[in-house]
Amino acid sequence: MKDNFNAALIAKKLIEKKSVTPEDDGCQELIKNELTKYEFTHQDLNIKNVKNLWLRRGKYEPLIVFAGHTDVVPPGNLKEWLTDPFTPFVKNNYLYGRGAADMKSSIAAMIAATQRFIELHPKHNGSIGFLLTSDEEGPAEYGTKKVIEKFKKDNMAIDYCIVGEPTSSKVFGDTIKNGRRGSITGYLKIYGIQGHIAYPELAKNPIHFAGSIIEKLKNHTWDNGNKYFPKTSFQISSILSEDVATNMIPGSVDIIFNLRFSNELTQKDIKEEFKKILDDSNCKYSIEWKCSAEPFITNEGKITNVLQKVIKDVIGVKSSLSTSGGTSDARFISKHAKETVEFGPLNESAHKINENIKLDDLANLEKIYFSVLKELLL
Ligand SMILES: [Zn+2]
Repeated sequence: MKDNFNAALIAKKLIEKKSVTPEDDGCQELIKNELTKYEFTHQDLNIKNVKNLWLRRGKYEPLIVFAGHTDVVPPGNLKEWLTDPFTPFVKNNYLYGRGAADMKSSIAAMIAATQRFIELHPKHNGSIGFLLTSDEEGPAEYGTKKVIEKFKKDNMAIDYCIVGEPTSSKVFGDTIKNGRRGSITGYLKIYGIQGHIAYPELAKNPIHFAGSIIEKLKNHTWDNGNKYFPKTSFQISSILSEDVATNMIPGSVDIIFNLRFSNELTQKDIKEEFKKILDDSNCKYSIEWKCSAEPFITNEGKITNVLQKVIKDVIGVKSSLSTSGGTSDARFISKHAKETVEFGPLNESAHKINENIKLDDLANLEKIYFSVLKELLL
């Protein structure tokens, strides 16, 4: 195989770069070099400490965009890794290293597939774009979100976008994400009356109040989900009262919770529903909300059909559409692109010690991305 189209080699070079979020550590420079030799034009769209890169080949429609992030999460306890997380290492046909699953291998597969495609079909229809950021694993404030805002302003339409997040669940190829749930966090403070624990009649214990409120919130049916989304779920992540002595009833208690919600609800619906439940409980409270993602969905269409077809052709796996899992940059892109999906390797080892990808899966991922280009641009 020519070095140019070698996804494993490119993946290894990317893993070597210590691009712990929001660092890029030269990943985008490498990607730029790989693609500008195939007549891609490039634009650096760096904002503050975040590196963003836009590459495009061709002027015409349809524009198909490969999107991804060059940053990775920190490696965690180095002693638990088989080898250094930034020294790519192959053992028993698996490539190990931070970013091997999430998502340097996908980027490498996208590059290799694109190079091979252009080599064979230099006069392809439409255009190919690459959108990369070094701020996905962090706050994601100055990355893809900002680039998409710029594209909107410039009236730069995107027809199809594939984000290379590791979406496969049990076997490689089994899951395409065609949407994601929304995520909203609530910071609830319930007020009582501080007092001596020996004289409860003179105080009002906010933790006791909280108990029954939590029960109601936990048992509440927010929605029933739908074809693409599981039911909306409510989970508490923290309960904390103020600094008190053991003989004190605290004056207030803080509860932090999160809802992962379907597109049956908006954040406004959730806030209203929540207010009803709390108001019924007759307690004094204050609440602050932070919505980090609205739910989105790409209905079955061209890109989902093409992906499902080529996955079946290349590896014989029947893939299903899903909206499970956390948030990704697809939430920003889907607001602008006609169709946005996520497809990539197994997510089992993502963000873990000894993160890895099976080299056969990486080779097949390259073939799948290649076939997508063939289906859409020939
Ligand atoms: Zn990722």
